[in-house]
Amino acid sequence: MKILMLRLRPPAETIGLQHLMIMEPLEFEVLASLAHKDDEVRIVDLILEKKSAKTFISLFQPDLLCLTGYITHVATMIETAILAKRICPSVKVAAGGVHLEVCPADLDHPDIDYRVVRNPVTVFPLLLSSIRSGSGELPPGILRPGQTAEDLPQMDFAWASPRRDLTKRYRRKYFYIFHSQVALMKTAFGCPFDCSFCFCRAITGGAYVQRPLSDVVDELESIAETNIYIVDDDFLVSRERVQSFLTVIRERGIRKKYLLYGRADFIAANPDLIAEFAALGLRTVIVGIESFFEEELTAYNKHTSVEMNEKSLQVLRKNGVDVYATLILPPEWDTKKFRLCGDYLIRNHIKYVNLQPYTPLNGTGMKVNEDTLLIKRQDWAKWDLAHVIIQPKNISVSEYYRQIIKLYQRVLFRPSVLLSYLLQYPPGLLLKMLAGSMTVRSQYIFKLNEARALEKKLRTEIKKGIKNA
Ligand code: SF4
Repeated sequence: MKILMLRLRPPAETIGLQHLMIMEPLEFEVLASLAHKDDEVRIVDLILEKKSAKTFISLFQPDLLCLTGYITHVATMIETAILAKRICPSVKVAAGGVHLEVCPADLDHPDIDYRVVRNPVTVFPLLLSSIRSGSGELPPGILRPGQTAEDLPQMDFAWASPRRDLTKRYRRKYFYIFHSQVALMKTAFGCPFDCSFCFCRAITGGAYVQRPLSDVVDELESIAETNIYIVDDDFLVSRERVQSFLTVIRERGIRKKYLLYGRADFIAANPDLIAEFAALGLRTVIVGIESFFEEELTAYNKHTSVEMNEKSLQVLRKNGVDVYATLILPPEWDTKKFRLCGDYLIRNHIKYVNLQPYTPLNGTGMKVNEDTLLIKRQDWAKWDLAHVIIQPKNISVSEYYRQIIKLYQRVLFRPSVLLSYLLQYPPGLLLKMLAGSMTVRSQYIFKLNEARALEKKLRTEIKKGIKNA
């Protein structure tokens, strides 16, 4: 069987982190390893290819086309399925990905033959056997067009050794901000915490399952790249597990550089472990700071405090570990809160930040009055955690966008930060980051101007209405 796995580009309206990070399609590499030895499997990364999906589908003429994506890719996945059926009427299309697993109805379309909603690693080989034999029998966890996601089995968390050889021609181009040639690893599924805004928990239905450490380290040792991005929702969960991981990599002489997600409370409570990890290659931690106001942390059910956040930043700084901080911007913020946020970030020496306007994704515990949504739920491409989704309560939409641009500018482009980058990174990497940041900035400026134009139009209409009354 000929199997084509297409990694899709994000749509143009999506405010694009792909300008600052492109990572290997690990989910496809894992699924590809489950194909039969006689199957011909090809992974195509359309973010890095110059040619279009149409070209690859036409040339390869697949029997099965696999598509995955985030919420921002929903329309693109459907369009690609339609295109594939036009080019190869006999092709079967299978779709998956984190958004589909939580909201399968969004991808219910006649041209998507199979929606893989549960347990992809378990059901994919069964799906291939079903297609090969023509039996038409599908394992539970896969939906046909028109079927709904009731009575699906519980999640299982099987793993398979990724076929990284299938992305060999792209691998030197995978990067994450200042980390070049990065490989991804997953060591656990889900997260034991229950932050109200978090989509990661929705994907696993609240479950948290770890892979055996021996498997993890075997896989780690097999990866050619030095830079490893551990894409667990939170790698720093258990002191015992992290300690065991460090002991094993030391004993086996594994020398890598690590980028991972970690919670502030763990970092603040385990400075000795962070010091040990830094000595063994920990370079960067993405910390969900979320807020520097206690009441917001409480509302998000984050189970951290402002003090813990600050302590964690001190621990990381002391050990020479970079911090990529993420913050949620609630609709209540006014210009003063944005200014205080900038003061806080600078006071805590944060050089890199990701500002996420409050985004009530379906499947999370975020409650919102649907009338306050500025962007329709079906306008998937804009649900990118960068657009302002909810009507701000105290300033206009245009002012909110202006404040986001200003805050990024203030934190990322302050002279001391630029100087440290100049001393730390090669010119090529700096130019790539600068170009990426400028592209994202121009996307934000477009949103700002769009909001201003809309507000001006509304004011004119109101004036006209008053005159006519
Ligand atoms: S935000 Fe982080 S800590 Fe909270 S539930 Fe999600 S992954 Fe876990």
